[in-house]
Amino acid sequence: LRDITLPWDETAPAMQARLSANENPYGPSELVRKAVADAVGFGNRYGHEDAARLIDMIAEKEGVTRDYIMLGPGSTDLLEKTAISLFLKGGNIVSADPSYMSMMNTTRAIGGTWKPVPLTADYAHDVDAMAAAVDSQTRLIYVCNPNNPLGSITPAAALKQFCSTVSTKVPVFIDEAYLEFLPNPQENTMVGLVKQGKDIIVARTFSKIHSMAGLRIGYIVAQPERIKALGSIVRGTMGLCVTSLSGAIASMQDKAFQENSRKLNMECREYLCGELKNLGYAYIPSLTNFVIFPIKSDVQAFQGTLREGGVSIRMFDIGEKPWCRVSMGTMPEMELFTSVLKKATV
Ligand code: PLP
Repeated sequence: LRDITLPWDETAPAMQARLSANENPYGPSELVRKAVADAVGFGNRYGHEDAARLIDMIAEKEGVTRDYIMLGPGSTDLLEKTAISLFLKGGNIVSADPSYMSMMNTTRAIGGTWKPVPLTADYAHDVDAMAAAVDSQTRLIYVCNPNNPLGSITPAAALKQFCSTVSTKVPVFIDEAYLEFLPNPQENTMVGLVKQGKDIIVARTFSKIHSMAGLRIGYIVAQPERIKALGSIVRGTMGLCVTSLSGAIASMQDKAFQENSRKLNMECREYLCGELKNLGYAYIPSLTNFVIFPIKSDVQAFQGTLREGGVSIRMFDIGEKPWCRVSMGTMPEMELFTSVLKKATV
């Protein structure tokens, strides 16, 4: 997997639809906006109490005690901190390829190595091959489910079985950034395994379903010993600001907003997939807020046409072929995307 997206530099026209970063197009909920504005006045204080309150709310939601939770400014922070804590003395990380590269990039940057394992033909994690890839130098397995940039999921039963068994040898990090877009998140989360005492680290974020990517809040659920060990190297709450914490506390209480995001996302995805089908694109069925498809024309010309049309997307080279990943925007943004895509389709 290689990112081959043309940067949206000063030569590009004004962007009309930003469909490149898997963001939620609807902005934070009204409750979040008010909470963030109200919290500004407390900006002179550290946010320890707000962090403790948010941790308690998350612990209650996940059905664990507070010592199972660590917060971070986005899940990126927790991916990076986990990698830094485990790979300072080298070792390897096993993950699917293609997948979300953040953890592997940090691992490699500090001297660890990556053992990529191809996905199965139906774009799920090849759990048998991943188990076989674990060796004496493996310090962590990374699983992104649903997987970015493909939008596909790995069946819960197979993943649970794999995690239960392999985590007796090496910890497994499950990145569930897009879990809440599924119709049945509870059946697909691996948090249940953490509760059973398995050495699994589950990451979640407020960036996607909560529409708070720029406010930066994420968390992990893991064994208390793991949280404690991580906390002895890096501090969980010191990087957090009172505005974002207050926003996250408010957002957790706004179930209607999350429900609506899920519904609108699904409507846009259904519309988009219908259009892609009409245009003959073999898109990968997605359960997330993005869809990826292999393009049929010249990659430079394709990106040029989208850029001229004011639409930013991501392009990846996967298996020596160019693929376009488009995030769900609002319905008018998706209509703009499809009209520009028609021009880019030859
Ligand atoms: N994990 C996955 C799979 C992602 O796609 C992203 C962002 O797109 C992240 C983690 C990072 O999200 P954040 O740092 O905003 O929580």
